Amino acid sequence: MIVRLEGRGRRVRACYAEGGPRCRDLPELELSCEVPVVLATPGGTPRTFGHRLRVKAQGGRLKVTARVEVEGYVAAVVHKELGNAPLEAKKAQAILARTYAARAIQDPRHEGAPLCDAQHCQAFAGLFHSKYGASIDPEPAQSTLSEILIESDDRPTPVFFHATCGGRTVAANRMWPGAQAPDLVAIDDRAPDGSAWCKGSAHHRWRAKVDAAELARALVPLVERSLDPRTLRLVQEDDDGVVWRIGDRAGIRRVPGARLQSTLGRAFGYDQVRSARFTARRRGTSVVIEGEGLGHGVGLCQAGAAARAQAGQDAHAIIEAYFPKLRLKTGPWR
Ligand SMILES: [Zn+2]
Ligand SMILES: [Zn+2]
Repeated sequence: MIVRLEGRGRRVRACYAEGGPRCRDLPELELSCEVPVVLATPGGTPRTFGHRLRVKAQGGRLKVTARVEVEGYVAAVVHKELGNAPLEAKKAQAILARTYAARAIQDPRHEGAPLCDAQHCQAFAGLFHSKYGASIDPEPAQSTLSEILIESDDRPTPVFFHATCGGRTVAANRMWPGAQAPDLVAIDDRAPDGSAWCKGSAHHRWRAKVDAAELARALVPLVERSLDPRTLRLVQEDDDGVVWRIGDRAGIRRVPGARLQSTLGRAFGYDQVRSARFTARRRGTSVVIEGEGLGHGVGLCQAGAAARAQAGQDAHAIIEAYFPKLRLKTGPWR
């Protein structure tokens, strides 16, 4: 059965193609099907979202809430986040994905649902259907079944991961004051030979070149005034890019690195300015940015985890390396 859905203000218009077009305007739509529901958006890849779906509309936009079984969700997140990595790295990611979900179930990150499917929570592209894409490897989730990371009070802990740390990770409470994750400490992500585990990643060291005037404009929301591109100053206060000094001859302001990174990522592309750990040098009318790592640098380094797995470390050793202060719990957590 195919149902075409459209948002009309606060109502959902559902049109059924079978037996001639029939449309109904509803305050909300509940779908419960024996086969998994596949959701297709114009131009998007069809995604499979389990058997039960609720659809609402707000301002003409559709809001879909799907009920998904936890282990299927974990397998799908691992597939999306770390599909090509060795198994032990995927198992480590599965433990994180499950911990993240467990925490969100206790402490929902959204109104009406613990998690969203976007990067804001964890990337989730649906429970793949063989007809619409690669099938998902269930092993990383199955072989770590019900394992989560807990804090001292036995609650699922907040966990974080990122693509490439560049050689060391950053403590959560430093990167985000108020993160309330004191056990998420910084580690040196270094192999016995002293080199970074993630050195094979294309993001271990990176370089970008941006126009100085464009950079000055992009920084305006952070300093709340216009900046003179000729005397622009953009300097890390510490080696981790946790706090930055931004300004020009007229004055300098301290800005959190996390805000700087998201601002520059939006302005120039997250594949250009990839982390908050970089140096910026003036060259003519341009600014050359040389950085380390991709992402916020907190928690597990995915490139490092893959390299560790390649070198023979198992999932628990990988988890212990990136989260030395957390404990692993096996068994029911709900
Ligand atoms: Zn979210
Ligand atoms: Zn790393």
